[in-house]
Amino acid sequence: MNYQMLKSILDTLIMNFRCPVCEAAVAENNLEIIGAAGATLNLDITCPSCAKHTFVKAEISHLNIPNISALDAEGLKDLRNKLKETIQGQIREKQEFQISEKEITDLRKVLKRQHLNVEDLLN
Ligand SMILES: [Zn+2]
Repeated sequence: MNYQMLKSILDTLIMNFRCPVCEAAVAENNLEIIGAAGATLNLDITCPSCAKHTFVKAEISHLNIPNISALDAEGLKDLRNKLKETIQGQIREKQEFQISEKEITDLRKVLKRQHLNVEDLLN
């Protein structure tokens, strides 16, 4: 995944994401990339208003995107629309992605103890 693609995903997410609990909008500094492998990007979004964590997994491979550097303006617009649908679909379907802050803290402790990183876990 190159920088341009990553930026596209993050921009789209910031524009479209609303906290499932309080519907607050998020900014770039509320996103934490917890894994980026191949065509998959895993994000931990912390709501700036209620501190709820939401996990979003953006799978670019499902979007059939050609090399992004070869995209023209129309292609880029199409990409953004597809990303928007994917992200909104995930947020609608994946309420179980929400876990508590304590669970995240616990998970991080376990990962640290076992010398694993989050990416290992997700792959
Ligand atoms: Zn919230």
